[in-house]
Amino acid sequence: MVSPRLGTPLSSNATKVLLLGSGELGKEVVIALQRLGVEVVAVDRYANAPGHQVAHRAHTIDMGDPEALLALIESERPDLVVPEIEAIATDVLAIVEERGLAEVVPTARATQLTMNREGIRRLAAEELGLPTSPYRFATSLEEVREAAEQVGFPCVIKPVMSSSGKGQSTVRSADDLAGAWDYALTGGRIDRGTVIVEGFVDFDYEITQLTVRAVGASGEVETYFCEPIGHLQRDGDYVESWQPQPMSETALARAREVAAAVTGALGGRGVFGVELFVKGDEVYFSEVSPRPHDTGLVTLRTQRYSEFELHARAILGLPVDTTPITPGASAVIYGGVDAVGIAFDGVAEALRVPETDLRLFGKPESFRRRRMGVAVSTGPDIETARARAAEAASLVQPVVP
Ligand code: AMP
Repeated sequence: MVSPRLGTPLSSNATKVLLLGSGELGKEVVIALQRLGVEVVAVDRYANAPGHQVAHRAHTIDMGDPEALLALIESERPDLVVPEIEAIATDVLAIVEERGLAEVVPTARATQLTMNREGIRRLAAEELGLPTSPYRFATSLEEVREAAEQVGFPCVIKPVMSSSGKGQSTVRSADDLAGAWDYALTGGRIDRGTVIVEGFVDFDYEITQLTVRAVGASGEVETYFCEPIGHLQRDGDYVESWQPQPMSETALARAREVAAAVTGALGGRGVFGVELFVKGDEVYFSEVSPRPHDTGLVTLRTQRYSEFELHARAILGLPVDTTPITPGASAVIYGGVDAVGIAFDGVAEALRVPETDLRLFGKPESFRRRRMGVAVSTGPDIETARARAAEAASLVQPVVP
């Protein structure tokens, strides 16, 4: 690859990035790109999304609407289209790539495969032969019953088009299948009526293996790894993460083999969040985001370059550096209330916790279980860092002014 030339934003030679999805992760990517003098256009389905607030231009459209999405890409003519969420008309991204309108990050195919649990699971388990939980797909309650018989109880039922635990339940006996099926149908992003029924993996811990595909010294794309991130999930949503997660040498090597295989098959450049379950020295592939991962917010303070800065560099064709600096942890701050335009008390108290930083995302509307901010702490070990982050997060009080 030729060494990339970066232009001047808001001029005719600007290097232009169109970000599809402008939540808290997108906001950090925008900031990282801004620092490199890139012109950033942020898109989301609602006005004043976190990333909108820090971009050169903001658009509010339904990104699931193929016509609206194509029209926007044609009018903005970015160099790069960077999907930051899954709920996008990905067929349009394939057209954009085919017509050479813009480069899609990491690739249009990767966004298509990962937006649907079926695509990525079949690639990982059936094409690449990677270990996963046993699984079946089902499109009716009857098929769910058969699938559960085959994978056994307990099992986890999830809509194929969903993330963050939406519509997901763990089922312990056949009696609970009908409820889980109904719940999955209401929780899916786009109602396709298909669920995955997965055998429950009784893992010791789960990790996100951040993996970066970036141009190396050879001029070819190489694979780089961050230290493994441990995390705690509640109702399928992350509440706490820490880095580095202690692992046996064998498990770590295996995690990296799995991550390299799956990201290599998806191709392109950028950060990938490879989610893995670990039991002893065994590693099971769960899923992958072809973009920075929410559990990776901890890297804002634990790495020389955060996952967002690594993503910005990698997608621009620049070199990356995944050097860790210190153990650290992150803890989520939830809205706690359903209201528009909330305020936060306790910020000063939270920032008095040693080695602690905060991100308040600036979301215009709060919901009880909406992630509104995060505390990120460092320390001599992950236990200290986790305690600090949890304390800081609990000190921040969302209030209705
Ligand atoms: P997912 O949306 O697939 O990432 O699932 C969210 C969380 O639910 C995971 O991070 C795990 O904590 C849990 N989970 C999902 N699938 C399984 C499984 N097959 N076995 C055990 N736990 C699971």
